[in-house]
Amino acid sequence: TPPTVTQIDSQVEQHGLKKIASGKVREIYEIDAQSLLFVATDRISAYDVIMKNGVPQKGALLTLMTAHWFNLFKEKIPDLKTHLLSASVPASVASSLPAEVSNQLRLRTMHVRRLKVLPLESIVRGYITGSAWSEYKKTGTVHGIAMPRDLQESQKLEKPLWTPSTKAEVGDKDENISPEEATKIVGEKYAKKIEELSLKVYQIVNYAAERGIIIADTKFEFGLDVDTDEVILVDEVLTPDSSRFWPADKYELGKSQDSFDKQYLRDWLTKEGLKGKDGVEMTDAVVKETAKKYREAFEMLTGQKWDEVVKSNA
Ligand code: ATP
Ligand code: MG
Repeated sequence: TPPTVTQIDSQVEQHGLKKIASGKVREIYEIDAQSLLFVATDRISAYDVIMKNGVPQKGALLTLMTAHWFNLFKEKIPDLKTHLLSASVPASVASSLPAEVSNQLRLRTMHVRRLKVLPLESIVRGYITGSAWSEYKKTGTVHGIAMPRDLQESQKLEKPLWTPSTKAEVGDKDENISPEEATKIVGEKYAKKIEELSLKVYQIVNYAAERGIIIADTKFEFGLDVDTDEVILVDEVLTPDSSRFWPADKYELGKSQDSFDKQYLRDWLTKEGLKGKDGVEMTDAVVKETAKKYREAFEMLTGQKWDEVVKSNA
């Protein structure tokens, strides 16, 4: 297996790719005025802090899972546009980089359109859990929306609900807001469009459920093509990092559900008293178990064997 990558080699920048942003998981480089290199490292966060070591191949798994969905959307939602140009490093860039650096970028990189990201986290919830469940217990609402009485924890909603949040600056926490407040942030036209597209894309969860994974909720981001005024799906989509994945065969109403991917890590952090601490180094067992889960999710959702995908992209 290739080495675990938590930092992208700085040689990338010496070879003319300017880094324009760095998130908890990704590094973003400028290719030209129209496009970016969107690179997923193997970093992992839990309880809002990044672990010291990474999870082998996680960046590649997230990248190829997102590419899988984008390709499926082409077929199922032909009017939806996404930021994906190609799920690889453009040849012109790859050839100007030292071999070890282009190897490091391989499989974890997307060439994407550079867009003005609209400042909303566009969350869709199919089940009531997490912060929505906490709010409901207190007020009977979810993001300020009145809900039926007597919902139970993890219950499937009658229909999926659009529940946006703010997109906080680095270090701050996103805040749940009502659809009306979202309208104030991006304007009515874009809020409506984002809601419509998000609910449409979320319908793909039926496909996931058939493959044994409940996508309880998920977060999308959208960008704007300022020339054509089109709203375009950006970022990663329907991955375990941007969604709550639950194993369908373990689903039980009235309690919190085990998450597919990070549960083992979260349980370990809690047990060891390391929850929320900076710079925690995961043990080999935790890394291995977590890597296995990400891979399992990929294989269930795409119906492809990970080793074969890696081989066929070699
Ligand atoms: P944070 O920035 O708070 O750490 P994060 O951990 O989700 O958030 P990453 O996933 O590591 O961030 O990085 C992705 C970043 O890239 C997000 O801030 C997202 O808004 C931005 N982004 C995604 N697609 C595009 C695009 N096509 N053009 C410009 N920016 C994009
Ligand atoms: Mg992200």
